[in-house]
Amino acid sequence: ASFADLYEHYNLPSYLRRNVASAGYLKPTPIQMQAIPLMLHGREVLACAPTGSGKTAAFIIPILVHLKEPAKVGFRAVIVSPTRELAQQTYRECSRLCVGSGFKVHVLTKAKASANSFGPSSSQRFDILVTTPSRLVHMLSQEPPAIQLNSVEWLVLDEADKLFEDGPSDSGFRNQVAQIYSACDNPKVKHALFSATLGQGWRSSATPTSPLQSGSSS
Ligand code: AMP
Repeated sequence: ASFADLYEHYNLPSYLRRNVASAGYLKPTPIQMQAIPLMLHGREVLACAPTGSGKTAAFIIPILVHLKEPAKVGFRAVIVSPTRELAQQTYRECSRLCVGSGFKVHVLTKAKASANSFGPSSSQRFDILVTTPSRLVHMLSQEPPAIQLNSVEWLVLDEADKLFEDGPSDSGFRNQVAQIYSACDNPKVKHALFSATLGQGWRSSATPTSPLQSGSSS
């Protein structure tokens, strides 16, 4: 499959075609070939995709298609990354794929902490949030919460294997991710999990021989 096949098959918006072309992507990477059609069909995915495999575009392209256009209702997609560096990288990739779409992406990391508060009105300026778990939980646990997630339609866990790690006395990502899940209080919310390995937390009989194996569930 090529990007041209994807465009033709799924009628992707022209801004996406332009942005993919200006990023210089000639053909979809294996994870993009597998995840984009599944997510375009509304399926939730659990994908095994290491950093550098093109996973950001694999989830953001179908999410942008689902969101259609900005709705000014608050965040409709949340991408949770285990580190600030990864969140910044994901933010840059999302932003470049959003050029010309009208969608606004916000990145929330510790470095920018105090500058932002997302009451219902200010969050309506943004559609997509890229964040670390601790930063988001910090915002959620303020009284009243400094951010609302009840409009979220897609929740993406990037490097999900790390996000399911337990820490000492409830301090691990797993506990924070649980709080984020319950804050995305929308019956429509769909999940996409991308992981470099299918190790530890959810190991069954999976042997990580191919870094690009992927699967889906719904
Ligand atoms: P990621 O795995 O999302 O961190 O992406 C790794 C790098 O691959 C980023 O610099 C992307 O801009 C780039 N990339 C993503 N998709 C493609 C593609 N289809 N062809 C070439 N490069 C890509």
